[in-house]
Amino acid sequence: MNNRICFLCATIYKSSNDIMTCPSCGEKISKTEYEKVLRKVSRSVRYGWLYRKVYEKCLQENGELNTRLCLKEAPEIINFIALAAISGIIGNISTDIVKKIISKIKVQINQRKSRHSEQDSLNIIYNEEEMEKFIKYIREFYECFDMLEEPIKKAIYEEIIVDKISTSLEKYVRLFTLDSSIENLNQEMKEQLCKSVININDYIESEMKFKPNDVIDFWKNIDNKKS
Ligand SMILES: [Zn+2]
Repeated sequence: MNNRICFLCATIYKSSNDIMTCPSCGEKISKTEYEKVLRKVSRSVRYGWLYRKVYEKCLQENGELNTRLCLKEAPEIINFIALAAISGIIGNISTDIVKKIISKIKVQINQRKSRHSEQDSLNIIYNEEEMEKFIKYIREFYECFDMLEEPIKKAIYEEIIVDKISTSLEKYVRLFTLDSSIENLNQEMKEQLCKSVININDYIESEMKFKPNDVIDFWKNIDNKKS
């Protein structure tokens, strides 16, 4: 069963039900709605943090950026912290509340420490400097991604485009049957692939970033004592 975080009180719990109920504050959320939020967060983390960090390191070490990497997703705990940070960046959540959410997440993680296998990527949790850097990068992903160094920005955009294209291609592979008209499929695929490249900024805005209203009700029960 996957770990879930309650968007109201930051309690981490396990559930795979279609409607998930927080054991601490009783908040109910559908799995679909929950996953929609987490999908967006994980994309911000993937491109705003994971890829940026790795490519910055490559550029620094080699003076150029010729390699492209395929990184695995960040552990879900990192996504939980990113969601707290994002609420502070775009919503009306104060820095104090963001800190409170993050420290509540940390406490829960420490209680389960022995189960961690991804210690390296969890450096954010145990290293204050790394945490600050993480929050800064998530903020910059939201606010000024265009200002990144050109080779880094280019490499990350390429990753986004490749990921987006592979999702589109998967759809066509599924649609493909032996009776498929290659011409029709070909034309549609071409259009889709062009769109993947041209509309990349719209895609980033709609699929990776939250609007203030999306998180307006978040963390209302953060002071709930029972946890
Ligand atoms: Zn809750």
